[in-house]
Amino acid sequence: MTHALLDVLGLSERNPGSYLGNGEWSGTSQDADIQVVNPSNGQHLARVSSASAEDYETLVRRAVQTFAAWRATPAPRRGEAIRLCGEALRRHKDALGSLVSLEMGKIKAEGDGEVQEMIDIADFAVGQSRMLYGLSMHSERPGHRMYEQWHPLGLVGIISAFNFPVAVWAWNAFIAAVCGNISLWKPSPRTPLSAIAATRICNEALKAGGFPEVFFLLNDGGNELAQRLVDDPRIALVSFTGSTAVGRQVGVRVAQRMGRSLLELGGNNAIIVDRTADLKLAIPAIVFGAVGTAGQRCTTTRRLIVHESIADDVVARLKAAYAQVEARIGDPLQPGTLMGPLIDAEAVRRFEAAVEKARASGGTVVSGGRARSGPGHFVLPTLITGVRHTDEVVRTETFAPILYVLPYRTLEEAIAIQNGVPQGLSSAVFTQDLKVAEQFLSAAGSDCGIANVNIGTSGAEIGGAFGGEKETGGGRESGSDSWKAYMRRQTNTINYSDALPLAQGIKFDF
Ligand code: NAD
Repeated sequence: MTHALLDVLGLSERNPGSYLGNGEWSGTSQDADIQVVNPSNGQHLARVSSASAEDYETLVRRAVQTFAAWRATPAPRRGEAIRLCGEALRRHKDALGSLVSLEMGKIKAEGDGEVQEMIDIADFAVGQSRMLYGLSMHSERPGHRMYEQWHPLGLVGIISAFNFPVAVWAWNAFIAAVCGNISLWKPSPRTPLSAIAATRICNEALKAGGFPEVFFLLNDGGNELAQRLVDDPRIALVSFTGSTAVGRQVGVRVAQRMGRSLLELGGNNAIIVDRTADLKLAIPAIVFGAVGTAGQRCTTTRRLIVHESIADDVVARLKAAYAQVEARIGDPLQPGTLMGPLIDAEAVRRFEAAVEKARASGGTVVSGGRARSGPGHFVLPTLITGVRHTDEVVRTETFAPILYVLPYRTLEEAIAIQNGVPQGLSSAVFTQDLKVAEQFLSAAGSDCGIANVNIGTSGAEIGGAFGGEKETGGGRESGSDSWKAYMRRQTNTINYSDALPLAQGIKFDF
């Protein structure tokens, strides 16, 4: 099954890892090949060659050349190119979704869902390609016209995390492409196969349509070339998705060279359940948010802030639901599996350390709390009560299915708990009280980039701007006007009069 799947996507046991432009894939054979491992059984899947410094130079040089042609292509034509990518992804959805599931460990429905997000953003980008609007302004001076236009930036570096191996790239690369940029993707070394397959599918679609292949790929096992990219002044924008620890370094380094960065970092998302909440909606939203993708989403629900009058009831219902999930942990490609593995042994170690810390802080493990024995990096979905919202472990993002339950009395207290963490990505309230909902969404409410009512924290539709505040990095990507991050604004003034009125009324005598 595995080999057949790799075959379908043009992959094998040994793969060139980087697309260098001009139809060439890197053949560099390095000692430091990336070893791809199946997280659900620990078995070797394939090898991918890591790019060399020479590959990097070739790739950037060719990307610069491709940009010259691409920026001259009318934006609606660039949209047509991305439409072809969306069509190709529709044809490969099942295979690419399965590969994501195999390599990253998310269940098949989530792997397919990720490819669907790529298709959706392709559709969105096609429309956007005809709407790269600038404003026109009224000039103060007679016979003058003033307006603004948006130009492409040039090269956009995309550094992505393991947990969304293909969708995050598409969010960035498709919008960047219709804006006239060339993207250069540095995927996670834990999911290089999905990156190769996605790049190939899209570049082949472009080539067949008579367009240049605008998607460059750099698979780098050790992050040296990722750092070179971060420091490279030829890369106008670095869009980074990953942990706050690495994103902080990336942001500082890019700022030091006066480049632009778009940061999508860690979250520590909470759901507030008020006493009027409809638990028929709240319970599945909490469970999906906390255990979906085995807790490895940036929008995973990590804190449950529940009114003290219903806390025991909610915990009892969650415990019953967790037992059902626990019974359906396993191979993510098997139909019926609800939760797959964590990405690697280190992730399991971090999960265990967090549970230990929570216990040491006085926490009680109501469900789960341990790794599953046997092959693969499986842990049990975990529910912990009795910790304080100020405990370090609760304030930290542990990338695993751990949910801390925090009772509250007043809405003000709930909002203060919700906002009292360094991260600011996604948040939600479950309530049937309009006043509670509106207060949560007001300027004095949630401080997150995403705030929802009667829908959980996890996942996002591509139509909205996605991202978060504080240590989540402040970046916005995907829908709304996020396209502006991939373009530079130019203000233009045109004088069609016979006079040259100077500013501040200054007149020269010559
Ligand atoms: P990570 O920070 O370990 O790695 C992210 C990427 O950065 C990888 O491609 C990695 O190779 C690269 N990298 C590592 N060191 C680097 C360096 N010094 N310079 C440049 N690049 C470097 O993150 P991860 O474990 O792959 O992903 C999980 C994290 O990503 C979580 O914190 C999660 O919340 C976050 N995430 C955020 C979003 C979002 O949109 N906010 C989405 C997905 C994941």
